[in-house]
Amino acid sequence: MDMTPHAYFQTLRPALQKRASTALAQGAGVRKDFLGELNKFFDLLEQALLSGNPSHLDSLLQEWTSARTQSDLQEGERNVTALLNQLIQLTSEAARENLPAAEALPLIGALTPIYLHATERVTTYENETRLNYLQTEIDRLQKKAERLDRSKSNFISVAAHEFKTPLTLVEGYAAMITELLPPELQQIHNLVQGIHNGIHRLRALVDDMIDVSQIDNNLMSLNPQPVWLNRTLNLLQAELESTLKQRKQSLQVHPFEGSKELLFADPERLYQALKNIVSNAIKYTPDGGRIEVDGRILPGFVEITISDTGIGIDPENQEVIFEKFGQLGSVLLHSSGKTKFKGGGPGLGLPIAKGIVEMHGGSLWVESPGYDEIACPGSTFHLLLPLRQGMEENKLAKFFSVLQR
Ligand code: ADP
Repeated sequence: MDMTPHAYFQTLRPALQKRASTALAQGAGVRKDFLGELNKFFDLLEQALLSGNPSHLDSLLQEWTSARTQSDLQEGERNVTALLNQLIQLTSEAARENLPAAEALPLIGALTPIYLHATERVTTYENETRLNYLQTEIDRLQKKAERLDRSKSNFISVAAHEFKTPLTLVEGYAAMITELLPPELQQIHNLVQGIHNGIHRLRALVDDMIDVSQIDNNLMSLNPQPVWLNRTLNLLQAELESTLKQRKQSLQVHPFEGSKELLFADPERLYQALKNIVSNAIKYTPDGGRIEVDGRILPGFVEITISDTGIGIDPENQEVIFEKFGQLGSVLLHSSGKTKFKGGGPGLGLPIAKGIVEMHGGSLWVESPGYDEIACPGSTFHLLLPLRQGMEENKLAKFFSVLQR
């Protein structure tokens, strides 16, 4: 008689197969035609025993793994691994019960490397299937997020343009009332002034919405001109003077190296970006706080820093705030106040500032130890702008050097 593990297995197979079919037939993860599959498995196992090559089982195991259902994948179940483990256990039980020890031991010894190999394959296949599934899920969610973002951006753009016409009407009529109103009706003048203020804020909001949608859709155009940062910053300081006084805050603009350098930038857009950042510094710093603007020259760039002694920003939020509607405060706090302490706005100021800076080939980011309204650790915004961008041509350089004198 043939005295090989293969022969022992052939002796064992009917008992093992019977045992496996009853033990596994109602088990979880068992597919239709399970008995047929089990039969195939044992056929291949025999081939592996005969040839000593454990990879005979690979393609069947791969088939089993790829047949996992959607819900298996969602729940991350490892059905084939579990099934294989059960088969391994059943095999050694059946061998011990049905074969004399002298046959059972060499058989188990011969099966062990095959089962080890099979387990390793199944783990790999199951991981691959799961990874593929997760990748598809990620792609799907990413597409969904992109779609949502696009519809948000479309909505902002449409809404902003739709607001513009009625706003202009209201503005025109309010101006006409002011003109026609006899000067002695002071009370009514005050009321109309209230309407003007409201219109002014609404217009600023609509303008921000249009800017953000232009940035989103790459439609914002720049009008680059020679710019000197110290002039821009002085203008900004002058504009914010009365607000700073109201909030009892100081704004110090240090004469940093680079502030007198000529930049090639869109002066209005750059002013807008700086104003958004400094207005935030005012808004998120308690009364009596300090705001400082400083800077330095880096190779090819000028860096402007705007630091405040305000409530600070948690590291985990330091990117979110540059996304549109990325305001962190409670929506209930929204006062739309431009400068009131913590008077959260619509969350468009920083995305616009970042968009403008990036369109200039620069970058904008924030550093802060964290958020603490009592200790007020402060925040520092860093704005990097390329030096003399667009100045390569000699003619332009000459033109600017004349201007600079
Ligand atoms: P908002 O209209 O809410 O001010 P921004 O885009 O200007 O929108 O700012 C987004 C958020 O970033 C703010 O809601 C605030 O939470 C946070 N933030 C911005 N600047 C500062 C700052 N200097 N200190 C602390 N928090 C800030």
